Amino acid sequence: MIQRTPTRIEARPADNDSASWQQLLSGAITSPTALLERLDLDPRLWLQGAEEGHRLFAIRVPEPYLSRITRGNPQDPLLRQVLPLSEEGVLADGYVSDPLQEVTASETTGLIRKYQSRALLMVTGQCAINCRYCFRRHFPYEEHRLSPLDRDRVIDTLRQDTRINEVIFSGGDPLVASDRLLAAWTAAIGEIPHIRRLRIHTRLPVVIPQRVCDSLLAWLPETRLQTVIVLHINHPAELDLATRLALARLRAAGATLLNQSVILRGVNDNAEVLTELSEALFEAGVMPYYLHAFDPVAGAHHFDVSDDAARALVRTMLASLPGFLVPKLVREIPGKAGKTPIDLFA
Ligand SMILES: *Cc1c(COP(=O)(O)O)cnc(C)c1O
Ligand code: SF4
Repeated sequence: MIQRTPTRIEARPADNDSASWQQLLSGAITSPTALLERLDLDPRLWLQGAEEGHRLFAIRVPEPYLSRITRGNPQDPLLRQVLPLSEEGVLADGYVSDPLQEVTASETTGLIRKYQSRALLMVTGQCAINCRYCFRRHFPYEEHRLSPLDRDRVIDTLRQDTRINEVIFSGGDPLVASDRLLAAWTAAIGEIPHIRRLRIHTRLPVVIPQRVCDSLLAWLPETRLQTVIVLHINHPAELDLATRLALARLRAAGATLLNQSVILRGVNDNAEVLTELSEALFEAGVMPYYLHAFDPVAGAHHFDVSDDAARALVRTMLASLPGFLVPKLVREIPGKAGKTPIDLFA
């Protein structure tokens, strides 16, 4: 009789699954040399630019995001979002450090009141990843560290203004904050009767999927507030298996998932990529929401896509996708009560 050897199920040693999100966050690559080495990029070609950009806005890339980047490919669409280039030092006309004028929109420390019915709460100034095109790359986050007194003032302001029906956790990335802090904010906000919704603007489930951990999933479904999570995904390659599983857990916890993308030259300024992104988002249970026209933030002009090019891309998407998978092409204009749609057929 022939003895069969049973099939062995091998554990994969390289998985990040056992590391906590906090470890993955603190272990993020934060130096130009380490980034180039990790991704097999020639320092003779890339180091000088990386160092120049890094001095203006520090590099930060956690391992789970790095693992989706193809080694040795300087054109990788995920790499382009995190690798600083010497172009960041170029001063271009019309490119400013606070294009959305958020600094002037804050009265109560930690709270931004740009919109009538929604208030933005800056839970933390930190992000898990530093995206090179970030319109907040020059934001004075240090001024937004909240003392217990500031927190009381925020809650008072929310309680007094009955026009506010939605609180948006913003940042930085609010999910960098501890679950203890987030649960405490959510409980306090949930006690204010006129608040209906909690919205969380975050890139963390994409950058470090492990952030969608048991302790997050313990407080999130507890609140009476309807919960909307607005993700920030720019390219279908960002939706790896770990991210899709994290998104499924958030949905199972009762959250509605939406996505906003920024249109970026060399990353997603391509109708096929954007169409595939919408399809992949929907498969992952996420509705495409906004496609942001480029904001002229100083240091990011090399990502610029003209409004005309953006319009043409979205017109192509309208022809190839069902209407519900076409994001709204919008721009934030300082002083306006909401996003301004860009007319596709102008
Ligand atoms: C536009 C914007 C909002 C509000 O978004 P709406 O979906 O238009 O209500 C919140 N936070 C940030 C950072 C925004 O840019
Ligand atoms: S995650 Fe968002 S806020 Fe943070 S650096 Fe990237 S774009 Fe900016």
